[in-house]
Order: sequence, then C-alpha cells, then structure tokens
Amino acid sequence: MSARILVVDDIDSNVRLLEAKLSSEYYEVLTASDGPTALAIAASELPDIILLDVMMPGMDGFAVCRRLKEDPTTRHVPVVLVTALDGRADRVAGLEAGADDFLTKPIDDLMLFARMRSLTRLKAVIDELRDREASGRRMGVIAGAASRLGGSGGRILFVDDNERQAQRVCNELSVEHRPVIETDPAKALLMARGPVDLVIVNATSRVFDGLRFAAQIRSDETTRSLPILAVVDLDERIRAVKALEIGVNDILARPIDSGEMAARVRTQIRRKRYTEYLRANLDHSLELAVTDQLTGLHNRRYMVGQLEALMRRAAAGGEPVSVLVIDIDHFKRVNDSFGHDVGDEVLREFAVRLASNVRAIDLPVRHGGEEFVVVMPDTDLEAARRVAERIRLHVAGSPFRVMEGQEALTVTISIGVATSSGSEDQSNTLLKRADEAVYIAKSQGRNRVIARAA
Ligand code: GH3
Ligand code: MG
Ligand code: MG
Repeated sequence: MSARILVVDDIDSNVRLLEAKLSSEYYEVLTASDGPTALAIAASELPDIILLDVMMPGMDGFAVCRRLKEDPTTRHVPVVLVTALDGRADRVAGLEAGADDFLTKPIDDLMLFARMRSLTRLKAVIDELRDREASGRRMGVIAGAASRLGGSGGRILFVDDNERQAQRVCNELSVEHRPVIETDPAKALLMARGPVDLVIVNATSRVFDGLRFAAQIRSDETTRSLPILAVVDLDERIRAVKALEIGVNDILARPIDSGEMAARVRTQIRRKRYTEYLRANLDHSLELAVTDQLTGLHNRRYMVGQLEALMRRAAAGGEPVSVLVIDIDHFKRVNDSFGHDVGDEVLREFAVRLASNVRAIDLPVRHGGEEFVVVMPDTDLEAARRVAERIRLHVAGSPFRVMEGQEALTVTISIGVATSSGSEDQSNTLLKRADEAVYIAKSQGRNRVIARAA
C-alpha cells in the first residue's frame, strides 16, 4: 500500500534525506521547509501522513500540529513528530498537541518504514469510513456532527504475567482510566471480546509471547479492530518493528515514562472512539436507508433489490415470485375527517396487521403513501390470491382503534395480485400488472382482490 507523505523540516538536507528514503520505498513525497507552507500544502494536497520536524524557526512543529488538528479538513491526517533523541518532554508535548506518533533523530530506517506502513493502514480504514459517512450525509440519512470525543475514562485490559510490575503501571493509569490486569493470556483473549477500549500487552515477558497474543487479537473477528499498545524494551528495535508489522497500534518503550504512556493511551482511546462513532453512524445510516420511518417496514428502495434478485432466479427456471400491491380505500377521507395524525396511526396499525398475516419469507413493504407491496417468493398466482384475500378480510373484518375514546374506524383495502412469467418479465412490468389489477379492484367498488395473469 503506497501513500503520499508530506515531509516538513527547515533544514534542507534533512528534507532531502527523508525524501530519498521514502521515495526508494515508493512513497510519494511532498515537502515544505516551514510551518505556514506546510499548513497550506496539507490543506490543498491532503497527504496521507505528515512527518513534522519539531524544531523550526517561527512556527514550530507543535504549533503546526495543533493547527492541523484544529482544522476539520486536515484533522484526520496522521501527524508524526520528529524530535531529538532525548526529547522526552517534546514527545509528551507533541502527543498533547494531537500528534499521532513520533520518531527520534537520527531516524532509524526500519522504524520509519514500520511506522509509515502502520499509519497508512490506519489512514485507509478511517478514509473508508469517512467516505461512506459522507455519502450517507449526502443522502440525508446522517444528522449531526462528530461530538468532541475524549480520550479519558477508557477500559484498559493490561496483559502481563508480572503482576507487581503491572500493578505499578495500572496505578498510574487509574487516575484517568479503568485498567484491569490479566496475567493469563488465554483468559485475556476472552476478556478482550467484552467491553474493552484498549489492550496493553507486555511484549517483554519471558513466560508468554506478547506478540503472538497481539496477532491472536488481530485475527479474531470480534477483537480485530481493538487498539493494542505493546510494551517493548527500549533497545529492542527489531521487536518493536515486528510488533508494528503484526498490527500493534503503538509501542511503549520500557522503562515506561508515565507522561508518555498517558498521552499515548489517550491518543489510542480517542482514535478508537472516533472510528466507533463513524461505524455506528454508518450502520445507522444503512438501516435508515432501507427502512420506512413511519411503519418500520422495509421501503421501496430495499424491495426493488430483493424483487430483482427473485425475478432473476424465477427467469432462470426457479419457482415463480408473486407480488401484492395494496392500496387503502378512500384514505384521503380519513385524513380529511380525523386529521393527518390519525391517518398516520391507521398506516401504522395497517402495517402491523399486514406483517402478521404474511409468511416469514414474504417481504411486506411500504411502497409509498398509503400503498403497500408484499413480495412473495416461491408463490404462484392462486396461492398469492388466497393470501391477499386473507389480508383483506383481516383488515375489513375488525375496525381500527386508533382514536382514544372514540369510535373505531372501519378500513378497507383493494389488492392487485400478479405473478412472474417467462424470462422476459421484469420487476417493473410485474409491479405494473399488479397496479393495473388494483385499478380494476377500485373501479369494481373497492374492498376486493383482483388477480391478474400475465
Ligand atoms: P382510493 O380509494 O381511490 O385509493 O382513494 P384514496 O383517498 O385512498 O387515494 P388518494 O390517492 O386520492 O389519496 C391518498 C391519500 O393518502 C392522499 C395523501 O395525503 C394520503 N397520504 C399519503 N401518505 C400519507 C402519510 O404518510 N400519512 C397520512 N396521514 N396520509 C398520507
Ligand atoms: Mg393511492
Ligand atoms: Mg387509496
């Protein structure tokens, strides 16, 4: 997976060096030598990752990072701060400024590429979710903006066979979060399926293989997207790279610095909540897109896809598919006499009666207004007509009690029935035949079923 990386450094030779390294790994590289230029390029080019030097005259890396994270157009671009080797204070300040990661100078190639790969994967996931959310917004099914998602109060699962050492770390974490220690990795795998926001695993243990544990978390369907922090010894850089390759989200170097740990944990939890928010919105929007809000039945958009698939199966020699088109008689009078709200109640009550009078494999749909459709797989015209008759009786036979303290309302319906025929038949021609049958039912006095052969 390649990516576009913006390299920002005031020293030209640093820029050239990073550009050469990254280009040799087939990354596309953009460059800037000061903060304001970096902000302009970031906004216009929207790179996938920004590598940002901390020490720059004028606007330094922290300030640039803060500005990037404040701007909604660039907020989601991962920022990697490049700091001096002993820049502990810088790292904490950088993470607080919203940086997603950091690298120390002189930059280690292996670490650089491992970080770039892991951030490219992350960015791809977030981009995909953001894209789909944006199209949901255009369809008008997603409302509201992302709330301010915090990075505290996280449920953290700490996996370490050394309980005393784990307890020390967890005491610090518990100022802000809710950590739980588990010394048995097999039990921890099960716990990770529960309500957990972040897993921290000791990858320096000699008793169990922390990286294998991380890989297991990644390969299990239910825990796949859980963020993982791996604790690795400061001088074990090959192991750190390996951890990132496995899909660990971030590394904590041992001895653990508590300020740095707090900042990294917060970043992971904030990021998880953001992707969760995007996912939840997406699921909700998909559901809204196929459901009728008044009745809870599926809508026409959903029905068309289902019906077309059944028609193809029928055309290829499968069982016939039938449709009922149902129209409420003189529904306008209900609205005119009792108001629109009572009309809505009638539609809801009708939907309940409809749904409870068809088989589980049938698909009842609100087609629009006071018109409904039932799609019936593996059903011939005569069987469909019998079902239609049953529905008609069930509606006309017992009045609708939709007005409190008032008399019940007698509602009748007219139903047209049609069945697929031949390989040329299309969903729209099938629905049209059923529609024409409804028209005939209306002209013959309403409250009746008309079945129409092709
Ligand atoms: P017919 O027997 O010929 O079908 O007469 P009708 O009055 O049922 O048919 P018409 O198509 O003239 O009127 C349908 C009415 O349904 C008009 C419209 O205002 C009303 N309607 C459509 N959607 C809704 C809705 O969601 N809620 C309510 N309360 N009324 C609706
Ligand atoms: Mg109508
Ligand atoms: Mg009507």
